[in-house]
Amino acid sequence: MYKSCNLILHGLCFYPNELVSCCYSPNEQVNGGLAPILYDKYKGEIIEKNELFSRMRKYSDIFKSGDTPPECLNCFQIKEKEWDETEYIDFITITHYTCCNADCIYCSNNLEVEERTNEKYDVMPFLMYLKNEGILKNDLELHLGGGEITIYKECESILEEFGIKGNAHIHAATNAIKYSENLYKAIEKGNTNIIISLDCGTRETFKKIKRIDAFDKVIENIYKYSSAKEHKVTLKYILIPGVNDNMNEFKKFIEIVRKAKVSTVRLDIEGRYLRSVNNNINPYYFDLAEKMKNYAQKFDGYVFQYHEFIKQPITKGICKKNLKNTIDFYKLKYLKTAIKELYTSHKY
Ligand code: SF4
Ligand code: SF4
Repeated sequence: MYKSCNLILHGLCFYPNELVSCCYSPNEQVNGGLAPILYDKYKGEIIEKNELFSRMRKYSDIFKSGDTPPECLNCFQIKEKEWDETEYIDFITITHYTCCNADCIYCSNNLEVEERTNEKYDVMPFLMYLKNEGILKNDLELHLGGGEITIYKECESILEEFGIKGNAHIHAATNAIKYSENLYKAIEKGNTNIIISLDCGTRETFKKIKRIDAFDKVIENIYKYSSAKEHKVTLKYILIPGVNDNMNEFKKFIEIVRKAKVSTVRLDIEGRYLRSVNNNINPYYFDLAEKMKNYAQKFDGYVFQYHEFIKQPITKGICKKNLKNTIDFYKLKYLKTAIKELYTSHKY
């Protein structure tokens, strides 16, 4: 029995330039430091299994000795229990591809943090190596994120191999501008859930947020995905101050939710706004969120989820000093990239 984490023992996460254990490191997300790195300057190399697990043990042995790697300090994933030290992988995040066919005003892949990368490296050869070596659990958890997964070249083969032929539990974020046949099939199989941030109920507001005129296409694809049997399709409404912060927009959004019969609705607030006000949310947004919640809960047929901000204004676990570091970190990056042309390659 000791403190450790499943991802340090059994997780892999593909970043644009590194192979890391996970994308949850507070050291990276809050302090602008590093996640637990397994392979620096990674470009899809097949890492021989003994080498891979020896790199993973560099971190897991620190936990085993009773200490915590600096990359993992304060992480909510740390638990005390009997850990299975068998060498296998059961949690993979693919997020090395940050290109997108939309241009959301709140996207952290472009304006704030970094330029989008049209990263070309393949992950399938390494994944197939792990699978053929019997290291990948058949029911692994597979998270597909980064930019827009449906325009990523390996999207269909990943879904086919692990979602349709295999039994991976897939969690995919998509903007639904491009329809993926294999995503539909994986949803229909029952082991895949998708989340679409629609954030609006009208074409005009969609254009303001996504900066592309694709509302009709997205609605059509939401209908297609949610026509799958026993689907798990979540529509998200990210409350963006000054853009979609009114009940009229939200009511139209709920109309779409009800017509499409999606399974889940999630209400959240935009992260950039939170940072700009040091998490001191204007009470107007608490009231509005409460009204939205009450309105959404009048109807049956879907699960309504909301972010803690409705009840709890200050993000748990982030002390003031760390918050200041975060703000400084983002501002610095923003100033570095703001003058560059980041919004030139729209295609769908
Ligand atoms: S403890 Fe947290 S940061 Fe460390 S590997 Fe686990 S999830 Fe990642
Ligand atoms: S859909 Fe929007 S938030 Fe998601 S990656 Fe594309 S631009 Fe960013």
